[in-house]
Amino acid sequence: MSDCVFCRIVNGQIPSTKVHEDRLTLAFMDIGQVNPGHVLVAAKPHVENIYGLDDALAAAVFQTAARVARAVKKAYTPEGVTLYQANGAAAGQTVYHFHLHLIPRYDKDGMHLTWPAKNPPREQLEVNAAKLRAALE
Ligand code: AMP
Ligand code: ZN
Repeated sequence: MSDCVFCRIVNGQIPSTKVHEDRLTLAFMDIGQVNPGHVLVAAKPHVENIYGLDDALAAAVFQTAARVARAVKKAYTPEGVTLYQANGAAAGQTVYHFHLHLIPRYDKDGMHLTWPAKNPPREQLEVNAAKLRAALE
């Protein structure tokens, strides 16, 4: 897609700072660098979000993520690494070409995710899961 910034990066039409590349994925530095070593792993084909990944592409993306995570750990020795992946504006997605973030993390580094746990009773978990099991069929 000619108007997609990550397609333009994959095609070499705009600059990027690459970390790893293979047939299906490209890992490159996030221009925003929440912490030094913040990498994006993108699918090479234009797929908007997780719903469009076929099995081969999903496997390739996670294989690259695991490899690059090990490199981040070795190169930066962070206290932790967060994988962040957004689908849809409500989830925080701003670039509509599938990618996931690998972010080296440190105590009090200022990155926060509010986590409003509801802790419903087991019966409610069963209702929620049954809905998903039906959707998987
Ligand atoms: P999101 O869609 O919210 O998961 O985040 C998109 C990410 O892409 C942001 O963290 C941006 O900093 C990053 N980004 C946007 N344009 C570029 C670019 N040209 N090169 C590298 N990273 C980019
Ligand atoms: Zn694209």
